[in-house]
Amino acid sequence: MTPSQGPVLDTSTIRIIGSEERHVAHNYHPLPVVISRGEGAWVTDVEGKRYLDLLSAYSALNFGHRHPALIAAAEEQLGRLTLTSRAYHNDRLGDFASALAALCKKDLVLPMNTGAEAVETGIKVARAWAYRVKGVAPSAASIVVASGNFHGRTTTIVGFSDDPAARADFGPFTPGFVTVPFGDAAAIEAAITPETAAVLVEPIQGEAGVVIPPEGYLRAVREICTKHNVLFIADEIQSGLGRVGETFACDREDVVPDVYLLGKALGGGILPLSAVVADEDVLGVIQPGEHGSTFGGNPLAAAVGTRVVEMLASGEFQTRAAALGEHLEAKLGELVGHGVTAVRIAGLWAGIDIDPSRGTGRDIAERLLARGVLVKDTHGQTIRIAPPLVVRATELDWAVEQLRVVLEG
Ligand code: PLP
Repeated sequence: MTPSQGPVLDTSTIRIIGSEERHVAHNYHPLPVVISRGEGAWVTDVEGKRYLDLLSAYSALNFGHRHPALIAAAEEQLGRLTLTSRAYHNDRLGDFASALAALCKKDLVLPMNTGAEAVETGIKVARAWAYRVKGVAPSAASIVVASGNFHGRTTTIVGFSDDPAARADFGPFTPGFVTVPFGDAAAIEAAITPETAAVLVEPIQGEAGVVIPPEGYLRAVREICTKHNVLFIADEIQSGLGRVGETFACDREDVVPDVYLLGKALGGGILPLSAVVADEDVLGVIQPGEHGSTFGGNPLAAAVGTRVVEMLASGEFQTRAAALGEHLEAKLGELVGHGVTAVRIAGLWAGIDIDPSRGTGRDIAERLLARGVLVKDTHGQTIRIAPPLVVRATELDWAVEQLRVVLEG
C-alpha cells in the first residue's frame, strides 16, 4: 500500500462515514475508522477489527475506555440524579470540589464542562482579579500568552492563537493579549506591564507536538509572576492528571501556579468536566450572577470527577505513566535516524517527528491504522501519542514495532 492509497474500507464503514460526511459539519478530518466499542487501551471498529488506542481522545481517556470504577460511579449516579442546574444545591458537587481542591492544594473550584470554557473562565477570573484586587484601570488588563499555544476554539481563545487555520475569518478578536515565544521566560518578564493580569501557558504544549520548554522555565515563570504581582495560570487541560508521570506537568519543576485549568481526563472519558482551581484570594473575586453554566457542576459529572480524583490521589496512575514513559522513550529512541528525526517525551506523552522522506504524519497515521494502531498527526510531520495510562509495556512494544515497520515502508 502506498501512503496516498490509505486503508481499504469495507462497505459498512464506508456507509457510516458517508452519512457522517453528508450531515456533520466538516470541522474535523478523522482517520477512516468507525469505532463502536472500547475497553481499556483497546477499541473495536464496526467490522470487528481491534486497535490499540494511542491517542486516548487527546488525553481525555487517561484511565482508558470504560474504566470499571468510573463506569460504576456513573451508573450509581444515573440511578439517582443527573442534573439540577446550580439554581439549587446537589449532594455531589461539594464532595467533588473538596476532593479536587485537596488534590490541587487550593481552596476553591469553579466547575465547567469543556476545556475551552475553563480557559475562558480563567481569563474572566484573571481580569476581575486585576481590576478588583490589583487595581488595574478599567478595561486595561492584559494577559501574556505563548506562541504556538492551543487553549481551545472559542473566539476569544483563537484570537490569541498564532495558528492561521484556527484564526482565519473568525475575527474581530478580543483585545488584551500579548504573545511571547514559548519557553522564553525573559520574554515574559519583558512583556509584563503594570496592567498585566496574568501569564497563561501550557506547561507542555500538546497540540503543538508535545513541545517541552527548557528545564527551569516554569520555575522562572513562577518567580516572575510573584515578583510582578501577576497570576500564573497553568493550562493543564491536556498535560495534567497523571499524563506526564506526575499529577500536574508543573510538578516536574515543583512549581505551583496560582490557577490550574483542568479538563479532559477530569471527566473520566465519560462526560465533559472541566474546572478552574485557585485560592480564595483569586477565585473568590467571582460573585453570584457573574459567571456560570447550566451543566457546570452537575451531579453526574461531579460523581465521576470525584472518582477520578480518588484514583489520582492514590498516585498509582502517575507512577505507571512515569515508568511506562521511560520504557517508551527507550523504544522510540531506537527509531531516531530510522524514519524519525526527533522524539519529545514527558511521561506517557510523546511527539514524534517523521522524516519527510517516509511520508507525512497523516500518511504514517493511516499506515498505522491499517496495522491496528491509532495515533494522530499534528502540524504536518509530527505524530502525537498519548496512550491510556492503563496500557501495558508489551502493548507499547508491539505498537512501536508497528511504527518501525510502517516507517520502513
Ligand atoms: N487547553 C488545552 C491545553 C488543550 O489541549 C485543549 C484541547 O485540546 C483545550 C484547552 C480545549 O479543550 P476542549 O476541547 O475540551 O474545549
